[in-house]
Amino acid sequence: MIRMLRTLCAGPLAVFCAMAAGGPLAYEPVALGWTAGEVERAGADQLVAMVDRAADSGRLGCQRQCRRIQGVFDRLLPIARVQSAHAAALRWTLIVVTLPDVEAMATPDGHVLVSEAFVDERVPHDEALAFVLAHEMAHAILEHERQTLTFARMLLPRQVKRTVEDMYVEIDHNFALLKAIEPSMQQGEYEADELGFQLASAAGFDPARQLAFMEWQSALDTGSRPLVSTHPPSAARLDRLRRQLPLAMRLVPPAPSPPTL
Ligand SMILES: [Zn+2]
Repeated sequence: MIRMLRTLCAGPLAVFCAMAAGGPLAYEPVALGWTAGEVERAGADQLVAMVDRAADSGRLGCQRQCRRIQGVFDRLLPIARVQSAHAAALRWTLIVVTLPDVEAMATPDGHVLVSEAFVDERVPHDEALAFVLAHEMAHAILEHERQTLTFARMLLPRQVKRTVEDMYVEIDHNFALLKAIEPSMQQGEYEADELGFQLASAAGFDPARQLAFMEWQSALDTGSRPLVSTHPPSAARLDRLRRQLPLAMRLVPPAPSPPTL
């Protein structure tokens, strides 16, 4: 029996077994270029620019849904922190803006930024909000920025030493490189969807309602694709999430039993 459980836990039930044992859902990224600190510092600059833009236009901070957004973030936080030593060390701070052209993002050091304007328009309930925030947190946990930069670095001549900032300049001005890292960026989105779905479910947010939100999002997709797309087609993302539903259902913690009289 124990051997059978071990076999199952080494295979398709690995994530569930890890969670049941109180362990993490995320994998540990390996073979990364630069230090986490170097990537985090570059990401922090981008965050400062975004926050400054919001502050300059009077759009920093939330106005209507402060308790709701903070409440969902606070429920996700303990689950996110136990995913890895890296996740435990991240700063995990929520920043709300009301910029109309921003949805949600996370920096490599754990700052999660979301626009209340996006929440108002496109995030109808807490389960949807949990999925959105957990997806962004998953990017930070899995160090996707560091992974994609490393992948991009491998496509360039080895003899030239490059900082993280150099890489952003190279990606901005080298279309072929940007196109070449498209699969890496899209793979990161699939992974953030899947880990985010699991994290939000483990935090007690109904997986079926999260999935219904993604079905709704997918229905809004016009199907037009830019020359380089950081995100996979919505239908493909939805298809993968549907396959994750049985696992997500098992990760939902049981409701507390009513007190006996
Ligand atoms: Zn993403």
